[in-house]
Amino acid sequence: MEHMFNGEGDFEMNHWKIETKAVQSGYVPGNGDPRVLPLYQSTTYKYDDAQSVADLFDLKREGFFYSRLANPTVDAFERKIADMEGGVAAVALSSGQTANAMALLNLAESGDHIVAVSSLYGGTVSLFTNTLKKCGLTFTFISPEATGEEIRAAIRPNTKALFAEVLANPALVVLDIERFAAAAHEFGLPLIVDNTFPTPFLCNPLAWGADIVTHSTTKYLDGHASSVGGIVVEKGGFDWAASGRFPGFTEPDPSYHGLVYAKNFAAAPFSVKLRVQMVRDYGVPAAPFNAYLTNMGTETLALRMERHSSNALKLAEFLKKHPKVGWVNYPGLEENPHHAAQLKYMPRGASGVLCFGVKGGKAAGEIVMNALKLAAIVVHVADVRTCVLHPASMTHRQLSEAEQIAAGVSPDLIRVSVGIEHIDDIIADFDQALNQVR
Ligand SMILES: *Cc1c(COP(=O)(O)O)cnc(C)c1O
Repeated sequence: MEHMFNGEGDFEMNHWKIETKAVQSGYVPGNGDPRVLPLYQSTTYKYDDAQSVADLFDLKREGFFYSRLANPTVDAFERKIADMEGGVAAVALSSGQTANAMALLNLAESGDHIVAVSSLYGGTVSLFTNTLKKCGLTFTFISPEATGEEIRAAIRPNTKALFAEVLANPALVVLDIERFAAAAHEFGLPLIVDNTFPTPFLCNPLAWGADIVTHSTTKYLDGHASSVGGIVVEKGGFDWAASGRFPGFTEPDPSYHGLVYAKNFAAAPFSVKLRVQMVRDYGVPAAPFNAYLTNMGTETLALRMERHSSNALKLAEFLKKHPKVGWVNYPGLEENPHHAAQLKYMPRGASGVLCFGVKGGKAAGEIVMNALKLAAIVVHVADVRTCVLHPASMTHRQLSEAEQIAAGVSPDLIRVSVGIEHIDDIIADFDQALNQVR
């Protein structure tokens, strides 16, 4: 129970394969300790003398003192995800929304600018265009398929980061991570990517040049639809000083007696600042119980992602041949425009989400959704149970029609999150539902 600012601890397991990390990383029991990561359902921690606590407050020593900043269960989960993504540190937060908000607010403030792709989860678009706009941030939205030249043209002197989803929800565009990273780095900017849909099992964006990875852990990492959560992972090694754009990292923080994150915490400055400044002040840590459940879910991530991906491919093949189906979008299909990028960035599978449209448009699609029996209509994605959702009237409802189109959401689009049930049962359910359309 000694850690807190992870990435600076004694944790070295990077030789393991990802399947092993998913099971073994993060928690290392000592002799006689519980074999399973314990749930430390405690807000606070006992110390023998006042000076120890004062030193913790001053960040002079590592340790737990209040669960708004760090908790041993959450800490172990953070170490696991950091290890799986190949990062130096991670900070777990209360939701995926918080992960994206805090990742940006950690490096941008009023008057600053972010370049983001237009095909994002609807909640992220709302966060950027409404709430972060009120905080004084401005955004330029570009196509996820922008050329290097188009990306560079969107960058301004006050730009602080590029932001994109690795596999867009629900447009299912596979990001050319290398292209976006190259453009960002040319200007001394970090590339932040939301890796929720691929998960670290299918893609490691940090290895392709991204600097920061975010997740809604609510989705595949939990995998069972039990816990809302988010996480931010730092690659390490980004040169905040050389960039010249980030005084928050290179100038003293008066709220910690003038320490300088890029100097005093050189191994993981982004994560330490995120934790001790953002999470301290906004108060948005992951709940220990949620971290406990999500950690347990992550143990089976590799098995689940293989099944999600193979089931989704089989359902996509079935749907594209069905006479009632107008179109299918799944990057795992050979004819899909993003198939080459999927093979490059996500060679082990295209994940479990596919989209399709029924002939007859939105009204016919509604008949199909209502007729499904095994697949439920739920506002969720990426858990073990097959489910469907209509983004235009649900997750992307708050967006304007133009924003919906830019996000890849057509009025007839049905998003399917293919579960890990037997594929024959899933296909039979979609077949009977499609046959309800006259
Ligand atoms: C769900 C989702 C989010 C938001 O996460 P919550 O945990 O619901 O707050 C962010 N990004 C993507 C890609 C998502 O799918």
